Amino acid sequence: MDDKDLGADLAGVLIPEDRLQAKIRELAATVDADYDGRDLLLVGVLKGAVMVMADLARALHSPVSMDWMAVSSYGSGTKSSGVVRILKDLEADITDRHVLIVEDIIDSGLTLSWLVSNLQSRNPASLEICALLRKPEAVQTEIDVRYVGFDIPNEFVVGYGLDYDEKYRNLPFVGTLAPHVYGGRA
Ligand code: 5GP
Ligand code: MG
Ligand code: MG
Repeated sequence: MDDKDLGADLAGVLIPEDRLQAKIRELAATVDADYDGRDLLLVGVLKGAVMVMADLARALHSPVSMDWMAVSSYGSGTKSSGVVRILKDLEADITDRHVLIVEDIIDSGLTLSWLVSNLQSRNPASLEICALLRKPEAVQTEIDVRYVGFDIPNEFVVGYGLDYDEKYRNLPFVGTLAPHVYGGRA
């Protein structure tokens, strides 16, 4: 690996590509069974959920539409505050529709609980959450996450959509960053 190789910035692989893909297929089979052919609207939360959305959607047999939201949570450093601003709203009217929020990772759960109450106020027929990754703090919140890929340790991870400073999203696996990347400002 040369210095430009993304692998040089990584401390390790937490979830390899084959395990990610196997889990996505497993989640898709459960979603298919649960929705049983009903029209489903997948709502991906940009930008982190792009990879899981793309792979989950392709693994589903149910008829789905896809829409996207972009939100920013204000907070100091790596912690979100729960104060959320919509950067891009849905194009779809979700009234009376079956909606499944697709998220990359839940940490404090503040962003997601804001999103859930925002979307709930638009009166969907149903509203559920699918999150690829969940950290320990999120388990303690009241958010009911119907579909979870992996419960992971409380470490900062990148790859498969997840960034550090807008990089590493294109890794096909989930990994942890080498300390030198943080440059002492983690
Ligand atoms: P929450 O409001 O649940 O604390 O924050 C969720 C958002 O914070 C995620 O959608 C993601 O953008 C970011 N985030 C939380 N933990 C991680 C992590 O380990 N790695 C990366 N790259 N982003 C994270
Ligand atoms: Mg996210
Ligand atoms: Mg990010």
